[in-house]
Order: sequence, then structure tokens, then C-alpha cells
Amino acid sequence: MKVLLSLCAAGCMLAQGFSQKPWMNKSLSPDERADLVIKEMTLDEKIGLLHGQGMPHVPIWQTPLTNQANGGAGYVLGVPRLGIPALQLSDAAYGVRSSGENGRYSTALPSNLGAAASWDPHLLYEYGALIGRELRAQGYNTSLGGGVNLAREARNGRNFEYLGEDPVLAGTLVGNIAKGTQDQHVVGDIKHYAVNDQETGRNIVNAIISKRAMRESDLLAFEIGIKTGNPAAVMCSYNRVNGAYACENSYDLTDVLKHDWKFPGYVMSDWGGTHSTEKASHAGLDQEQPMGDFFGDKLKEAVQAGRVSQAELDDHVHRVLRSEFAAGIIDDPVKKSVVDVERGFDTAQAVEEQSIVLLRNQGNVLPLSSDVRTIAVIGGHADTGMLSGGGSAQVDAPGRGPSQWQEHIWFPTSPLKALRAALPNAKIEFDAGTDTSAAAALAKNADVAIVFAHQWESEGMDLPSLTLPDKQDSLIDAVAAANPKTVVVLETGGAVTMPWLDRVAGVVEAWYAGSRGHVALANVLTGKVNPSGKLAITFPRNEQDLPHKSIGAIPAEDKRYENNPPHDEALKAGLKYTVNYDEGLKVGYKWYDAENKPVLFPFGHGLSYTTFSYSNLAASPDGRSVTLTVTNTGKRAGAETAQLYAALPASAQEPPKRLVGWSKVMLNPGESKQITIDVPPHYLEIFDEQKNGWTRVPGSYTFSAGPSSRELPLKANVTLQ
Ligand code: BGC
Repeated sequence: MKVLLSLCAAGCMLAQGFSQKPWMNKSLSPDERADLVIKEMTLDEKIGLLHGQGMPHVPIWQTPLTNQANGGAGYVLGVPRLGIPALQLSDAAYGVRSSGENGRYSTALPSNLGAAASWDPHLLYEYGALIGRELRAQGYNTSLGGGVNLAREARNGRNFEYLGEDPVLAGTLVGNIAKGTQDQHVVGDIKHYAVNDQETGRNIVNAIISKRAMRESDLLAFEIGIKTGNPAAVMCSYNRVNGAYACENSYDLTDVLKHDWKFPGYVMSDWGGTHSTEKASHAGLDQEQPMGDFFGDKLKEAVQAGRVSQAELDDHVHRVLRSEFAAGIIDDPVKKSVVDVERGFDTAQAVEEQSIVLLRNQGNVLPLSSDVRTIAVIGGHADTGMLSGGGSAQVDAPGRGPSQWQEHIWFPTSPLKALRAALPNAKIEFDAGTDTSAAAALAKNADVAIVFAHQWESEGMDLPSLTLPDKQDSLIDAVAAANPKTVVVLETGGAVTMPWLDRVAGVVEAWYAGSRGHVALANVLTGKVNPSGKLAITFPRNEQDLPHKSIGAIPAEDKRYENNPPHDEALKAGLKYTVNYDEGLKVGYKWYDAENKPVLFPFGHGLSYTTFSYSNLAASPDGRSVTLTVTNTGKRAGAETAQLYAALPASAQEPPKRLVGWSKVMLNPGESKQITIDVPPHYLEIFDEQKNGWTRVPGSYTFSAGPSSRELPLKANVTLQ
């Protein structure tokens, strides 16, 4: 018994003592079970489920009960007398956050945007499952991961936490992360709902966007994610959307999420993103985080005074409880255990090997051939480690304490050491890159030079520009001038500009590479692994080509509210800071296509050490599926992600094309496979604001298929009613 007590968190014992209660009957649905519990609950117990109890380690967010949290991002009371466990929440974007605070260990997976380059839903399921396992091992039963804001703004400091610029790709992948996490019996979430596409002024900014554009872009990613993965929770965001704060936005929360999409789970606010009681409750917010400023005593008073009806209160409670039953945290309470480090390494490496994108490979400079004798490795702290993304996504690196907010964290995963291990016969020397001439001198005498370049991203800031920081462009230029066989390895959160592109032979995007990034990278550079990643974002030529030349500055009169948004309705209405998403539907490649702009690397681009050809595209007359053949025309085995885009009839007034499906195939040299890509009818629809619904425009639809959004050798037309 003693052993059991120490292994089981409180919830474990709770469940054991309540097995005879009617709501513990697993043959009932989560909704039925939730209703049976609600019948027994007092008003105080109900209110307790609808707000957090503070955030450990954040001084402004403390309550008398904060110390009951398991660390992490927060804690929500359970109902011990009815066997309902507390919610223990942790951030978990690319791994479990802040394990350092508690002396624990977490695997860092590659950044979310990196993993999106795998285009592999099964892999993203494993990504989510690893997060779920490690959350449970550390005593958490609620995940705060699942970021899926579209990369509408290329400088958004959180793009590394999201899954790219296309709603179908991002939505499919985030749904699989949620599924993977929840299958481990952890409450999964999806965030930040919605149109939280920049960090600048995020607590006050008003994102103006048409309903049609929103439904077909940013919201579509959530819609697909929710349908694919059934995440238990949706986190509403900090910003305003068309005038109303996201956590009191009845269009987004009630009309769309709960009504149109029939989302059965609960909406929690981002941390400090609740600004009212009745308004937010009526609009569809179910749970305030991390405090109870509005959904604590004030909500109780509002219910007692009849300003919030009993039915509305019970709906909030029902959503939280049914989600706990559905995710399995009541039937299978969390048990702390030791994180399986080795398994984490394997998953992190497997994900990174599929996430690395070979952007350029002139003269087959890669893979490094076995007759390469000398290699100059330059810059980027490549002797000691690899970069990770900051903010609430930050996973603490082993061997160091808890990280500070917005600290630049380098994981102790040295690409230099991994390369030396992979190429024991080559002489591999390192130069820190701080002195450009010394770096160039080392490069000059080497067979190949590899420059490591980085761009750090974090929550709470946007990038000042897409230029690599710290004069890294000059370093690359100098090395490339000294050695034409220069390869640039990028460790970036998202897109960067590359003024030196024509002068280097190779470019490899490694993203924030995670706990085994160095090994995965060495495997790709040496050819042990054939790269197959494809960009989930466009790399533009320059910032002038972006839909917004810059991120607007916060007006002086709003400045004082930047970190302290007002709750008073009049003050809220008086806030000026606005971003007009006039580009609307034209997010990412849809923008560059519509504006006829060349790009550095298009959405979907990624090379391989083999080559592929495409043939025989045929579409079914109802447009619901297409078949095509992909052939490996090169000399080694490799995986190819065949992409399918659709152009809608002109009268639909859409951007030139949209992604409607893809298929990743593994092919041996000379092998051909016929693949079928199903096209869900919804992916061919547009949102009609007049009808307030989705519709298919009759006319001619052109499907095109190929290896990237700008290389589509195959076309087929169908006429649809
Ligand atoms: C972030 C969320 C995060 C929360 C809790 C907020 O600042 O926007 O993504 O889950 O903090 O840490």
C-alpha cells in the first residue's frame, strides 16, 4: 500500500475509492457520466472547476492554493468527495516545459514548424504521444500544446510553435498531435484561438479580418484540427478579433466553435486573457486561467443573482467534466514515473530526420562523400550545441537549471561532435565565426565548409526582420568567397532571407532540432539518412514581398495597456492598436501566387539525394479522389511527399490554388508507385458570408500535383456542380 501511495498521484487513490459510483460506469458516454456528477455538485464545487488556482513561479499569479500545483502552468481544483481529480497543467509545445524547476527531465522534440516539414501525420501522432507520456511521468494530466495559428505573419515570434501557413496541412498535423497526446490519457488542447498571428501588442491588438477569410484560413486550421484529433480543450487567445477579445468573442467561441463545429469540449483562456465575467461566460468561455478573477467569486455572484443562468453554468461544468472522462484522466489517473530518456531520444531523432529540409544542393555537395578529407565547421556554437525556441514552449536543457523567460537556450547537442563521430577519418576543425577572416582562412584550406547560422524566436516578441542576426550574412559571404563548397546549416524558427544564396553550394534547414538534432543532422549531411522534409512555410525573397511591410507599432496612447489590458468595456473599446489582415485569404503561398511574386523557396519545397518523376494524374469525376504515379528516378531509396493542389473556378474569387491533399511514399531506386489522394469535399468549398455557410461553386476545378507548390508538372480538370 505504501508503495502504491508513493507511485499514485492523489487522483489514483480517488478513482479507486469511487469505482461503485454511477459515473464510474465506463459503458456510459462521457456526456452521461458528466451529467451524473453534476447532479451531485454544489455551486462552489462547480465554480472550482471553472478557474485556475494560480501559476507556480509567477509572482503575480499566486493564490492560497497555488502550492498544490505540480509546478507547471497551473492547477484546477478537483472534487475529491466525488472522485474527480485536480487538473495539473503544463505547457508542452515541443516537449514538457519547465521540468528544470522541479528537477525533472523532458525530451525536446524538434520545433513544431520543423516537425510540420515531415508532412507525416503518423509522425506527429508519435510527437503528441511522447508529450503525453512525459506529461504523465511528470505528474501532469493536462497538456497546453497544440499551437496552430497560421504563419500569416512571417515575423511572428511564435511561428516555430505552430505548423506552418496552410490550414489543411497545419490542421491535420495538429489534430494528430492532440490524438497522440490524448491516447496517453492526458487532456489535450489546441491554441491560440484565434488570429493571434503576431506577438507585438498581443494583449490589446485588434485583428481585423473578414469572416470569409477567417473561416477559410486561420479558423479552418482549428476546424480540421478539432475534427481530426478531438482535443478536449481550446485555448482562446490574448488578442481581439474584429473588436471583441478572443475570450469573449461570441462569434468565434459560440457561433463557430460550439455551434457550427459542435465542439463538445471546453474553452480555457490564455493566461490572463479573461476580461469579464458575464460577457465572457455568455460568449462561450468555460474556464479562466490561471486565476479566478472573473470566474471565481464574481461568477458565483453572477449565478446567484441570475445574471448567469444555472443552465449556462452547468454547460461550462459539463464541458470540463465530459472532457476529463473522454480523455481518460478519471479512469486512468496519472502515475508519476521516470521519463524514458532513450525512447525520447529515438523519437526526437526520428522526427528530426524527417523534418530537416534540404533547400539547395548545387553540384551534389551533399551528402558529404567518403573522400572528403577536411571539413571546416564554422559558427553557430556548433562545437557545443543547438538552439531551441523560447517562451512558454521552452523545454529546459539537461545539465542546467530552469531557464529564464526569453533566455537563449542551446541544447548540449554538438553537431561538431556528431559529425566527427560520423566521419572518423576526416579532419574536422571548428572556428567560432567571431572573426570573419579567421573563419574564411579555415574554410579556404578545407574540402568543404559548413557554416551554422541561427535565428532565435520566442513568445512575447516578434522578429525585427527576416535577416539573420549578428552579422551572420557577412560571415556566410566571407566563407563562401573562400570556399565554393560551402554548405549553410540553418537553425531557425522560421523563414530567413539569404542574400548569399547564389554563392553557396548547399543549404540545409535544421530548425530547432531537439534532443537528438545533432545526430539526425550528421546522418543527413553524411547521407546515412536521405532527406525528405518539405517546407510548411514559404521563404520569401525579402521583406518587401510580405503582405505587411512591417509589424505596426503600438500607438502611444495604448502603450500603458500593452502588458496590462483594461477590463472596463469603455476602455477596451477605446484601444486603438489594430492590424488589418487585408490580404485575407492570401496567406503564405496563396499570397505569393496571387501577387505573382517569385520566392526564395516555395511552400512544399524540399530536395532529396535521389530524384523523382511524376506521371498519370487522373481525377475521379466527382473530384473526391485523384491517382498519380511517382517514380524514383535516382540511385538511392528515398521518400517523396507528392502534393495535390486545386484551383477553383474563377467565379469563386479565390487565390490561384490551395493544398487539398498529399501522400508521402517511400521508393527504392527505379520503383514506381501509384498513389491515391482523397480530397474531402469540404476542401473544395468556400465560405459564403451571405449564406453564413460553406458552399461549392459550380464550374471547372483544376487539380495539379507535384513536388512543391511551385513545381506542379501534372494537371487534370473536373467539372463539378
Ligand atoms: C501563452 C500560452 C501558454 C500560457 C501558459 C501564455 O503566455 O500564450 O501559450 O500556454 O502562457 O504558460
